[in-house]
Amino acid sequence: MKSVQTKLLYLENAYEREFEARILKVERMENYFGIILDCTAFYPVGGGQPSDVGEIFGKKGKAKIFHVERRGGQVFHFARKIEGELVEGDVVKGAIDWDRRYCLMRIHTAAHLLSQAVRKAVNRPLEIVGSAIDLNKARIDFGYEKSIREFFPKIEEIANEVVNENRPVIVKVMPRNEAEEYVARYHESLRILPAKVKEVRVVEIKDWHACACGGTHVQSTGEIGEIKLLKRSSKGKGVERIEFTVVQNP
Ligand SMILES: [Zn+2]
Repeated sequence: MKSVQTKLLYLENAYEREFEARILKVERMENYFGIILDCTAFYPVGGGQPSDVGEIFGKKGKAKIFHVERRGGQVFHFARKIEGELVEGDVVKGAIDWDRRYCLMRIHTAAHLLSQAVRKAVNRPLEIVGSAIDLNKARIDFGYEKSIREFFPKIEEIANEVVNENRPVIVKVMPRNEAEEYVARYHESLRILPAKVKEVRVVEIKDWHACACGGTHVQSTGEIGEIKLLKRSSKGKGVERIEFTVVQNP
């Protein structure tokens, strides 16, 4: 029997911080509980973005959620303990730690923006080979055979210009072949997407950059705030890494 999947509310609206859901199951594990809901606004860890944290509360009990994971279409909200009682069938409210999530949305969107700023600064369609987001800083890795350090002022200038232009960030779902063409205009590809993915979620910073992404983003570049490059390092084999952050409380 195929189990009921968890509907991912953050894909529709990344700004939803509280929501109502029904508990599909509570799994008791060795040191914690896994609460599975029929829908969730919690972002499960993945795509280089950490999971949300927050709280789930019902009429008879509540739980602090410290980690969230997607397992085969269902989202597990992990809690170290349940105060009172939370059981299958309960209608509950979920609340994500919004300050933390909003910070991740800003820095995640900054990573998209920077991919193109780096290319513009060196005037070459460099290949981005990886990225990872955290609260205080994030990184992007790209193919470049020497130190990118001399381009830092230029990259920051270009990136912050796009922040100041306050460009809209648009999410579109499109068939794979269409998406392939769409992102190619911005030197991106769908090469790391498994072949079974036929519908692709494309995130575009209007007329600046577009790529396939299932993460959470702000809706306009002005919300990012000032982008600051922190350091560079070489990962070897012609891969350069830059670490960056966004100024807190813009
Ligand atoms: Zn993204």
